[in-house]
Amino acid sequence: MIDLHLHSIFSDGSLTPEELVAQGLKQGLTALALTDHDTTDGTARFLAACADRAVVAMAGVEISADHSPGSMHMLGYMVEPDTGDLEPLLARIRDGRDARNHAILAKLNELGIAVSMADARAFAGTDVVGRPHIARAMLERGVVSTVKDAFDRYLAKGKPAYVDRVRLSPADSIAAIRSARGVAVLAHPFTVTRDSAALKRLLRELVDAGLGGIEAYYSEHTADMTRTYLDLAKALDLVVTGGTDYHGATTPQLRIGTGFGQLRVPDELVAPLRARKP
Ligand SMILES: [Zn+2]
Ligand SMILES: [Zn+2]
Repeated sequence: MIDLHLHSIFSDGSLTPEELVAQGLKQGLTALALTDHDTTDGTARFLAACADRAVVAMAGVEISADHSPGSMHMLGYMVEPDTGDLEPLLARIRDGRDARNHAILAKLNELGIAVSMADARAFAGTDVVGRPHIARAMLERGVVSTVKDAFDRYLAKGKPAYVDRVRLSPADSIAAIRSARGVAVLAHPFTVTRDSAALKRLLRELVDAGLGGIEAYYSEHTADMTRTYLDLAKALDLVVTGGTDYHGATTPQLRIGTGFGQLRVPDELVAPLRARKP
């Protein structure tokens, strides 16, 4: 068994890269990939922790692409951080996230709501600060009655404290991953759409843009979903990947390797994925 979808403290996971590797080895996993959100900063530590161990280590990343409705995450495997324009683009996304939080807080302050970055950060824990934490800070201040109320009245698109975020298009996300000699893989496809015909049309476009694979095995996929994605992979000549989306203590019910208990990602996926590297 393998797990090709892991988050560390370099994004919103609770474990260090070394702790992730130790957990994976304890579960007897034969391949691991670190796929932090919008950063490869944990890669060197992750690869070092896997060196000389009986495990295949893969550098990875997970980019949130600009797509609506639904949410589209693009995984990049075997990316080489020093190659191409992936790194500068990831830095731009991260800087944009900070700038966005500051802009949201400035708008709230203008509206007479005194919530600071420190207030929001207090609710983020190991997580990357974002709108949910600002909403909780507002709730704490008694400005809103629930987190949903904060979004409905202030933070949602079209509301007075909304600020757009910097995001790459799906095609640009794929191009960035490929420029770093990585394989682009659509993560947890059900978050994009649950309509398999619509997904197939979308996948054709992404394949034209250079998509290399699809994450068919995933903690939240039903057996039917996995079968659908395996069929789509075959029809569109995509490689198949799988992983738990392990975040450590932030989602304690989800285990590395087995997800919510049922997940088994086969070792056989590793060779075709590696062979797809540009
Ligand atoms: Zn994701
Ligand atoms: Zn993830």
